[in-house]
Amino acid sequence: MHPAPVAWHVTHWGTDQWSRGSWTSLGVGGSTTDRATAGTPVDDRFVLAGDATNPVAPSMTHGAYDEGVRAARWAIDGGARRIAVIGAGFAGLGAARTAIDLGAEVVVLEARDRIGGRAHTVALGRDVHADAGAAWLQQGPTNSLARLADQWGLRSVPTDFHRPLAAAADGPVGDVAAAHAALAAHLAIAPADATVADVLPAYLAALTPSQRRDAQHAVDLELELENPAPPHLLAARTALEEPGVGVGDRWLPGGYTALQQRLANGVDIRLGTPVRGVTWHADGVEVRTASGEIHRADRCICTIPVWLAPELTLTPGLPAAQLAAIQRLVPGVVEKVVLRFDERWWPVSPSGYLRWYDHPASWGEWLDLTDGVGAPVVAGLIAGTAVSRHHHGNDEAIALAATAALARWAASVT
Ligand SMILES: Cc1cc2nc3c(=O)[nH]c(=O)nc-3n(C[C@H](O)[C@H](O)[C@H](O)COP(=O)(O)OP(=O)(O)OC[C@H]3O[C@@H](n4cnc5c(N)ncnc54)[C@H](O)[C@@H]3O)c2cc1C
Repeated sequence: MHPAPVAWHVTHWGTDQWSRGSWTSLGVGGSTTDRATAGTPVDDRFVLAGDATNPVAPSMTHGAYDEGVRAARWAIDGGARRIAVIGAGFAGLGAARTAIDLGAEVVVLEARDRIGGRAHTVALGRDVHADAGAAWLQQGPTNSLARLADQWGLRSVPTDFHRPLAAAADGPVGDVAAAHAALAAHLAIAPADATVADVLPAYLAALTPSQRRDAQHAVDLELELENPAPPHLLAARTALEEPGVGVGDRWLPGGYTALQQRLANGVDIRLGTPVRGVTWHADGVEVRTASGEIHRADRCICTIPVWLAPELTLTPGLPAAQLAAIQRLVPGVVEKVVLRFDERWWPVSPSGYLRWYDHPASWGEWLDLTDGVGAPVVAGLIAGTAVSRHHHGNDEAIALAATAALARWAASVT
């Protein structure tokens, strides 16, 4: 019998009112151009900026931050003196910090009662912190936030995603990397209008039983974790194409909050202030909050998750081509559990990564935080279709079910 966790945190990004998803993938007909189109300024007054509008680093914190910086420069270069920013995630904080540093007056309107958005550090007991959303600084040398973390002296721990301590429920782990490469090659030549759900069953059926097992493991963990959008909406061609985790990643034992707090220092951020609509015209913009307040500015930078943007009342509105591009950016759900124990009872992975191949997939990807945070803590991820199968009940039930998956992995590691 494995020990029960003494503290836990379970996320609900998929149902959280201000995210309703974790990150976007490309839907049918989508391309990275859609990301740039979604982030194109409208009438020189309004712009969407966030992790989904970044064509080179989508779905990552530094991609969001870089988009905020881009939007701030657009506003300043256009002569804006007063800028309204909607959302205080990394994109909003990047926009606000940059605009202030360039001499503008900025107000940030944030719906939640905290900053950070989908990157949020939680406490597990008094002395331990862990990230409930984003945890890694990815893409090593090109990561602007990693550079800031270094500049500000924040401790970070390198990890190697490609060397997990892996185990499978149905026997020794096969050559999942080769299966992943073969699947990627097959998906890359799928018809332009095909979804993953269209292509995958026939692909798997044509394989030998042992190839199929390895391919299924690649689908369950790598494809669904990187691109958690529903398979019937996910474009087959790009499903294994966009960049994600890899060599050069690091995580912050003190949590992402330390970075966010430094960026937010001195910024006028109005928490608990959901925005309902934005109107723009020749003289400027008016941003209307849920309580009816109006904030006037020269330009508005909107950093809410892009799939929520069409729900705002935007006047005169987004061009049809931009709305169509946004609709091809399909949100998916990744959830996380962070578990603290009295002692580390699971085998130690040299890279810190643990991977559990179980079909149908459950809590498959884990990072052992113990050495970094100085207490027995491990974080697990569940993605895509596995969320609807396993992310049920109250948080304690979810934490215990995740612990059971970790225990099955521990019992299977050889
Ligand atoms: C479980 C999980 C794990 C992840 N892991 C990683 C990782 O390891 N590394 C990595 O780089 N990325 C990771 N990501 C992705 C990363 O978190 C996001 O790409 C990034 O945080 C997005 O930043 P953003 O500023 O674009 O959006 P958000 O962080 O979503 O910020 C938008 C803000 O807008 C606010 N808002 C929404 N609607 C309104 C409204 N109407 N009015 C006012 N405010 C509003 C929200 O409350 C939020 O604060 C992960 C995400 C999840 C969910």
